[in-house]
Amino acid sequence: MLEKMEILHVEKVIEEFETMTKDAENVQRETLKKILEENGSAEYLQNLGLNGRTDPQSFKACVPVVTHQDLEPYIQRIVDGASSPVLTGKPITTISLSSGTTQGRPKFVPFNDELMETTLQIFRTSYAFRNREFPVKNGKALQFIYSSKQSRTKGGLFAGTATTNVFRNSQFKKAMKAMQSQCCSPDEVIFGPDFRQSLYCHLLCGLIFREEIQLVSSTFAHSIVHAFRTLEQVWEELCVDIREGILTSRITFPSVRSAMAKLLKPNPELADLIHRKISGLSNWYGLIPELFPNVKYIYGIMTGSMEHYLKKLRHYAGDVPLISADYGSSEGWIGANIDPNVPTESTTYAVLPNIGYFEFIPLKENVEEQVHDRGDANILSMEPKPVSLTEVKIGEEYEVIVTSFAGLYRYRLGDVVKVMGFHNSTPELKFICRRNLMLTVNIDKNTEKDLQQAVEEAAKLIAEEKQEVIDFSSHVDMWTDPGHYVIFWEISGEVSDEVLKECCNCLDRSFVDAGYVSSRKVNAIGPLELRVLRRGTFQKVLDHYLGLGAAVSQFKTPRCVGPTNYKVLQILCDNVAKTYFSTAF
Ligand code: AMP
Repeated sequence: MLEKMEILHVEKVIEEFETMTKDAENVQRETLKKILEENGSAEYLQNLGLNGRTDPQSFKACVPVVTHQDLEPYIQRIVDGASSPVLTGKPITTISLSSGTTQGRPKFVPFNDELMETTLQIFRTSYAFRNREFPVKNGKALQFIYSSKQSRTKGGLFAGTATTNVFRNSQFKKAMKAMQSQCCSPDEVIFGPDFRQSLYCHLLCGLIFREEIQLVSSTFAHSIVHAFRTLEQVWEELCVDIREGILTSRITFPSVRSAMAKLLKPNPELADLIHRKISGLSNWYGLIPELFPNVKYIYGIMTGSMEHYLKKLRHYAGDVPLISADYGSSEGWIGANIDPNVPTESTTYAVLPNIGYFEFIPLKENVEEQVHDRGDANILSMEPKPVSLTEVKIGEEYEVIVTSFAGLYRYRLGDVVKVMGFHNSTPELKFICRRNLMLTVNIDKNTEKDLQQAVEEAAKLIAEEKQEVIDFSSHVDMWTDPGHYVIFWEISGEVSDEVLKECCNCLDRSFVDAGYVSSRKVNAIGPLELRVLRRGTFQKVLDHYLGLGAAVSQFKTPRCVGPTNYKVLQILCDNVAKTYFSTAF
């Protein structure tokens, strides 16, 4: 469809979405049928006794709910070049490496044309709704997108992060063109071997095309903030390059240099203008509209673990709207942001009922408490049965289970979502947190979300001193008796000991979970510890993940570092500048 079309027909996309979501239950049934028919010959499904049945009841009766760990042996055989169909009917030729921020190592998941098509469908859907509110003209996008290294597995399959697999796919560029969102940087920059060099060149391209830039984006908001923090450091060098028309010697890769040389001409007027504009800013407020006067919005995933970066992003954005991108994962997409007008933190994602078969495990407090501490397998047996897409209830929280066109059947994604409403008959989900990211010592339970709120609260104290928490993480230290929470902070500048002590107490008090508070009162959990890190520590964490094959585009700072993620824990512990213990209880 896209090949023939220059510009996306947004009304048609919306119409198709409306029709489909009015009949979500049937569309789900048909989608499951299609998935099972296309992949019926796969060994995994053959062994489960479906015998050609494709209805939801038989599917649920025969196919177990699984985790990535359960599927690992199958995926490994594909990676190693299995010749028979293992998980999908058609052979898998590409593998995605998920970011692996939680486990500390990337996971392999299958990638195929169907997954690519569903990715584009999500992009087209949210674009269509976004464009009604915030139309972009035929300009350019300053996209902070980067590719990871694409390698070959032992079995000869291509392996790269999911975003890399998407960016490298020929359909991606066509789709971006149809959505009038073409990246202003040449391919050599996007696919450059060193992300720091690519980032510098993205910034340079953005400045060269500053009048044409219609939107600033990245996959996750973290990359946008990271990019503009970098600009604060390198802007004068960028101005020199523009003035002289010669690229700085810090860019060393010949392919990147020659691609940039085609764009870079001596332009002293532009260099002066940028210099003037940046010099006129107060503490970098409104940097983005100042540099890119025609930018309509800033776009990237901004919910969940990205919420921490919104304050900084708003500062750079001034009055330019921030719009969260869609909800999905390397395993497959789930929902699109079809309501770009709502405040970013309240973004919901409407599930597309034809891109996968979705189920939801209800997360009722009482059930969780009963199974606390009994391990994953038991949690599953005691948990309520998963419900289907159209059976979910408004106000309830669920864990998402995905059945995809790329060989995952009843796969626990590990994300917790809350149903906020329905669009026609498809639910609108709010992302809550990762399910397994839990701070727990005793009977306490604090999620990624609780941690974020505590950090937000305590960060207000350093905001009074004009400082900010650049990034944060946490850890449960069980080596002490009793165990206690450790919070790691990287701060933008100097803050006095008194204020940091107060921050530490504030963090401790901000975990309001009854299990935590009561355990703290009787010293069943020790005083919370705040460890202030040296500047650049989280950059080291990022570098560590890049070394494992992750891509900056998909990077998410691990919010809770478990004992098995010892490399990251070591980076954090080796870079502690100051330590404070709470006296709040
Ligand atoms: P990856 O492992 O790199 O494929 O990242 C996928 C994970 O990122 C998801 O399982 C979510 O935990 C998170 N994620 C993706 N989209 C969103 C979103 N819109 N809001 C919050 N978190 C998201």
